Amino acid sequence: MTMRYLTILGSTGTIGVNTLDVAARHPDRFKVVALSGQNQIAKLAQQCRQFRPKYAVVLDSARALALKTALADINIEVLYGVDALEQIASLPEVDTVMAAIVGAAGMRPALAAARAGKRVLLANKETLVMAGQFFMAAVRASGATLLPIDSEHNAIFQSMPEPYSGDMAAHGIRRILLTASGGPFRTRPVETLAAVTPEEAVAHPNWSMGKKISVDSATMMNKGLEVIEAHWLFNARPDQIDVVVHPQSIVHSMVEYQDGSVLAQLSNPDMRIPIAHALAYPERVATGVPWLDLAKLGQLTFEAPDTDRFPCLKLAFQALAAGGSSTTVLNAANEEVVAAFLDRRIPYLAIPELLGRVLERLGGQPAASLAELEAVDAEARALAIKLIAAR
Ligand code: NAD
Ligand code: MG
Repeated sequence: MTMRYLTILGSTGTIGVNTLDVAARHPDRFKVVALSGQNQIAKLAQQCRQFRPKYAVVLDSARALALKTALADINIEVLYGVDALEQIASLPEVDTVMAAIVGAAGMRPALAAARAGKRVLLANKETLVMAGQFFMAAVRASGATLLPIDSEHNAIFQSMPEPYSGDMAAHGIRRILLTASGGPFRTRPVETLAAVTPEEAVAHPNWSMGKKISVDSATMMNKGLEVIEAHWLFNARPDQIDVVVHPQSIVHSMVEYQDGSVLAQLSNPDMRIPIAHALAYPERVATGVPWLDLAKLGQLTFEAPDTDRFPCLKLAFQALAAGGSSTTVLNAANEEVVAAFLDRRIPYLAIPELLGRVLERLGGQPAASLAELEAVDAEARALAIKLIAAR
């Protein structure tokens, strides 16, 4: 049994809290060295009291002071800012980094962990959508171990041959089958989608998640981002990735082999399972999640995705095919339009409409360096913000 020393980036979020839940069940295996949160200071302070990390990182100096004050009686180093996130992602005394910040803000710290050769537990899919080429190159250069946390990619990882070389054909793999729940609007009459509220969009039938990914699940942009994520993680071409809707969220994804075999990973929908898999890998640990009772479930069903109902899925495939910085553009614009929708500044159906317009204007540019991608990210956000304001 190997003791793992953890940094949890985004510990106050849904993935962060679930990670701490698994860690707390196995104090003999996992020691928390560093935590980070953006602005939920009371929650972060409580986590620090429970897990006694050496470091805690917040967004800015005012929040750092608030956290320091709340923890005046315990010995902890409180830091703030992006540099500090990169620092706790690459500490010599840490071997495992959970990258669970939401959005492009998580990219730099995840990259720092990859460059430092850590075991990188990647929940932040936006890192791969924004800068997959550079992130994967950093993983290869440092010899970092990349373990996917997204339930679909974790399922694919578990259904792949080990070790997987990155060459699907050489392993006799025909395609990857990504399952999708279909979200809260799978069967809602299309003519009522115009009236969707943020509350309805974040009410996912099977998973309890942060707001941004919940809206992404409602539009199926989440599945689109996951197609791009699968492309980078498994070196799969767009035509080697298919999406199948599976409303029960029990089969988390599948790998199809040339002989016609399809391997899948099944479990109750609870993120503690992929998190525990990656935390303990290649060992296995208990999670407290109820055992899967297939007879009680009775039925597992599958259907083709409806790309008229979910145009965001099509946009993601288009961006991936266009290459260059197109997926960076898509990701940045998506973060802005989703935030605007959650703030009630734009209606639900404006999400795909505005994304289509931003992609049309800015997609297809090359991506020669990370700095260039960051500039494209900023440009796409600025255009999205302009289009949002003009509506
Ligand atoms: P969340 O909103 O619940 O938590 C986000 C975390 O990131 C919080 O700790 C927050 O403090 C931190 N954060 C946000 N903005 C930040 C910034 N600018 N700088 C520093 N920290 C910041 O989100 P979540 O649902 O836990 O999702 C986290 C990531 O995991 C996302 O990329 C999401 O796509 C991915 N993911 C989540 C799930 C899930 O079930 N929740 C499943 C698969 C993948
Ligand atoms: Mg997922």
